[in-house]
Amino acid sequence: MATRSFRTEAVVLRSLRLGEADRILHVASLEHGRLGAVAKGVRKTKSKFGARLEPLSHVDLELHRGRGDLHTVTGVELLHSHHRSREDGYRLDVGLVAAEAMLRLFPEEEDPHPKAFQALTRFLDLLDDLPRPVDADGTRIAGARPALEPLVLSLQLKLLWVAGYLPHLGSCAECGAAGPLHSFSTRAGGAVCQRHAEGAITLSPDGLAGMEGLLRRPLAEAGGVGLTARGSRDCLAVITASYEFNGGFRLRTVASA
Ligand SMILES: [Zn+2]
Repeated sequence: MATRSFRTEAVVLRSLRLGEADRILHVASLEHGRLGAVAKGVRKTKSKFGARLEPLSHVDLELHRGRGDLHTVTGVELLHSHHRSREDGYRLDVGLVAAEAMLRLFPEEEDPHPKAFQALTRFLDLLDDLPRPVDADGTRIAGARPALEPLVLSLQLKLLWVAGYLPHLGSCAECGAAGPLHSFSTRAGGAVCQRHAEGAITLSPDGLAGMEGLLRRPLAEAGGVGLTARGSRDCLAVITASYEFNGGFRLRTVASA
């Protein structure tokens, strides 16, 4: 008979209050995919879990399998706290976009996506050192949108790839023509030529080159792709349209970030 307790490596994606002292956690786990768990007494100052179960925390969790949807946290070991991402407003907003993307793209329990999980943990390691956006002359850009950060655009394109919604970019996704490619069709799942652009999103040359660069390079090189402002906006538009078409959802964190 299967044991009712198990351990798994996990990242806390969302944490909701439950009653006086408890929290409900939604986590992405390496071995079991998305899981829901109750952390009892976690909001008490003397909680044995301390501050180890905050959103973006990378942990080794010990869980007791419940009868319903929710497991119970019985132990937690901190692998990476990522407090440097949580304590900076810009980095936190970037991180929460990634957390929501994981929640919405991989909603099924016991449906592991180790490649997506590894991309997420790599993303969080890089997020801890992410500089705030600066102009060409080195001054900080005041109202820079976290949703347009190359690192989180790169992660989301990779997650779309893992989810099976790979944007096809090298040739027209409808007819295979080499180009020129002017638009992105969510129905076709990629860039399309002029002849197949009806109902598709207009894609600038910057946007097409930016998406190709982000998909080809590792997360650590997202900042070196040289995304322009227009290219970033086009990437976000393609990601948003892909979520809507394939999953029927929009990210709330992007609307506010
Ligand atoms: Zn075509």
